This record gives sequence, C-alpha cells and structure tokens, in this order.
Amino acid sequence: MESYLLHEYRCDHCGKLIIKGILFKSYEEYKCNRCNKIVRFQGIANEDNPDRYLLLTDKNGIIVNASLSIYKNLGFELDEITGKNVEELYLNNEDKNVDKIISSKISNFKYLRLDTAHKTKTNDKIHVTISFKFFQQDSREYILRLVDKIISPDGFLESQSRFNPNNHSDFTTETDLNGNLLYISEQVEKLYGYKPEEVLGRNASEFYAPEEAEWRKNNMKALYHKKQSYKIPYLRTMHKDGHFIDCESIAMPLYDDLGNFVGYKHIHWIKK
Ligand SMILES: [Zn+2]
Repeated sequence: MESYLLHEYRCDHCGKLIIKGILFKSYEEYKCNRCNKIVRFQGIANEDNPDRYLLLTDKNGIIVNASLSIYKNLGFELDEITGKNVEELYLNNEDKNVDKIISSKISNFKYLRLDTAHKTKTNDKIHVTISFKFFQQDSREYILRLVDKIISPDGFLESQSRFNPNNHSDFTTETDLNGNLLYISEQVEKLYGYKPEEVLGRNASEFYAPEEAEWRKNNMKALYHKKQSYKIPYLRTMHKDGHFIDCESIAMPLYDDLGNFVGYKHIHWIKK
C-alpha cells in the first residue's frame, strides 16, 4: 500500500516525528536521530494477522487500495477489488446502508467499530468486525476499514443461545474519553430496541435517566482521569421506546494498538 498519511509516529522520549503513515508489521523499531532512543511502534494497521484485511476507500466508498490478505479472506486479487464500491461486499441493502451511515459519521471520531458480514468472491458470508478510521491527505478524505473475521468455533455461540436464550442479557460498549460510543455489540437491538448504527457516535449520557445524567457524566470524567478499571453497581438506561432498564457494568481502560489510552470498554448486564 502507498504510504497514505494515517498516523504520526513520534519518539516517546523527545517527541520528534519519526514516520508518518501506516505500519504493516506487528511492530517496527526505529532509532530517534534527535535523542538516539530506540522506539518501537506497533502497527495499528498491521496485516500480520491472517484473519484481518484492510480496505482503503475514498469518502464515497470506492476502494482505492487493499491489503494483500484480501485474497485469502475474500478471494479477490488486488486489481479485482480496487475500483469497486465497498457496498458490493455486503449481502443486502440494509448492510450497505449501515456502512454509509458509519462512513458519514466517522470524521468526528478516533474510530467506530461495527459487527457485520461481508461476502466473498464466491458469495459466501463471513462474519466480521470492522473498525472505520478517517484520515485526510492532500485535502482528500479517506476511510480505512480494518476488517477482522469473527471466529466462532463450531457454531459454539449459536448453539449456546439456542440452549439458553437468557445468556444474552449482557452487551459490550466502547467509548472515547468524551463518552462517545465507538462500539456497541449487536445484542443492543434485542435489549434496547436500537440498531448499533443508531447509537454509534452518540454520547452515552444521552441514554442515562435524566435525573442521573449530570452526576454520572461528572463521575465518569473523574474515573476516566484515573485510567483505572471500575464497577458501576447500578445504572438506569433508556430503551428506544422510552422506558428504563436497570443494569450494572464493569469498565476497563481501552488502549489502541499503539498503546495510547483512547477510552473505556464497558460490559453491561441487565438486572433481573
Ligand atoms: Zn527522541
């Protein structure tokens, strides 16, 4: 892939800019030529994982580049996939529209992540989780999609849910340091009536009970500042139809592949 600007990688000792771009290896070592420190960067866009592929599109969804691992995962050669619209990789119109909705929001966030499905060249369905990242170069706008296959061994998850439907009273969210929702697992639709794309990018506080919203926001800010894991024993959150649901949550700090503290991951349980 061309070295499109995605990140500035800086010396963690003196702050000198070392490289700009996308790293494809799991990590790379550089010597800072200002302070001589050896610095290591983990590639946020690394494709060492064989179950990951990258798609770079313009803001209209036209694929301008992809990682070579696209062949193993979807069966397309690089020159077959470039020039296509990314919507051709979805199985139905609903999924195409969800990609468009996320693409229209992404410029304001560090990333947004969505569980969905892609189709292979032979029209097989594969479950994936896609991290959308926005960046600009030479005043042009691009969206990078980091696509990871969701592996569920031997349909384990499906058989579990058939056996015990109550297993799915929990869901996961990821928020940035301002409380904006970057990821929410699919169970949110069953539990709260929202589809993930209706919720992504909105602030978590919009879903708190009004009388709790203010102090909860302040509380979160204080907790985020400490970068510690914490437990929320009681939280009232709003269903799409307006009624409130009691849940409890645990939260842990979230770091990106470069080791930057970017937000929090929460696991929530509905209280019975
Ligand atoms: Zn340095």
